[in-house]
Amino acid sequence: MDLHALGWDDGFAALFREFASTGYVPGRVTLEHQHIYTVHTGHADLLATVTGGFRHRVVARREYPAVGDWVALRALEAGRRGVIQGVVPRRSKFSRKVAGDETDEQIVAANIDTVFLMMGLDRDFSLRRIERYLSTAWEGGAAPVIVLNKADLCDDVPGRVSEVESAAPGVPVLAVSTKRDEQLAAIEPYLVPGRTIALLGSSGVGKSTLVNRLVGHNLQRTRAVRESDHKGRHTTTHRQLIVLPGGGLLIDTPGMRELQLWDGSDGIEAAFDDIEALAPGCRFRDCRHDLEPECAVKAAVAEGRLEERRLASYLELRGEQKALAARQDERGILERKRQGKIVGKALKEFYERNKK
Ligand code: GDP
Ligand code: ZN
Repeated sequence: MDLHALGWDDGFAALFREFASTGYVPGRVTLEHQHIYTVHTGHADLLATVTGGFRHRVVARREYPAVGDWVALRALEAGRRGVIQGVVPRRSKFSRKVAGDETDEQIVAANIDTVFLMMGLDRDFSLRRIERYLSTAWEGGAAPVIVLNKADLCDDVPGRVSEVESAAPGVPVLAVSTKRDEQLAAIEPYLVPGRTIALLGSSGVGKSTLVNRLVGHNLQRTRAVRESDHKGRHTTTHRQLIVLPGGGLLIDTPGMRELQLWDGSDGIEAAFDDIEALAPGCRFRDCRHDLEPECAVKAAVAEGRLEERRLASYLELRGEQKALAARQDERGILERKRQGKIVGKALKEFYERNKK
């Protein structure tokens, strides 16, 4: 494999020149766990940490490498371990912002070219949610592609597709059935060697099914290797950046998985700025414009200055967002624990294997 298969191109090469003179080589972060990384250089996977100088220099969490990042590193110990000296400027990034603290922005994945925004053509279907996912994708700097899954459960696929197309002009809309389709022909054109994709979508839309379909071949091969090797554990490294059999690259990190449940309230406030503007007139500062007395928002509805339907939809969206946030917290903790165990174990094995 060479660097181009990992997504390297002239643009990154130009940005890398700043580091090249110092004798560092480029590599792409394929796995991250508590500031320990595996980095693929095109020749080898190295277990790496940042240099002391790096740690000293950075002021914000977002400056640390993330999965998908291109880094400048120096190999140590016969090319098994490495130290990271710097991060090549990101072309796109998905982050989780810790409320109110800009320096605490945490990058969950970097340099994603295409994001599949997945939605089910079953009960999950919601144009409003598509709009929110679209803004997340644009904000991250990746090109969105809307993937409507579970076409087998929908009576009017073309109707849904055109609905989505008019809600998201200029964005490709694909309808598939990840479970049934023999070939995921609609998706294939996006799986281009060197291009990095990621999936966003609520729980249950079929992301795991799609990932398994895309990497299925690799997973099988891994298992085969393991069976023929009684010690066998060294094939279990849990990658978060995966080279797909066809050559495309897939990023699937716990952070991206959490992001899909994460719908910032900023979007709601912006979409309902008329309601937000009325709110300061309410008697209670934390008025939810629901059952509270002397509510300026409800007064506006009563006087016909605000549509009742609009308030209802605001309240519904906010309720949904609150439920999502609670679910995300719960799942986020569990998922982080689970992934932490898997990744920690994989890194330990990688380390043990490369010690000798
Ligand atoms: P995730 O939470 O987004 O990772 O969703 P999963 O991949 O776990 O899928 C959720 C459920 O939907 C599973 O029971 C899948 O078997 C089912 N599913 C996935 N894709 C399809 C599809 O194209 N058609 C149908 N009918 N079910 C699907
Ligand atoms: Zn109110």
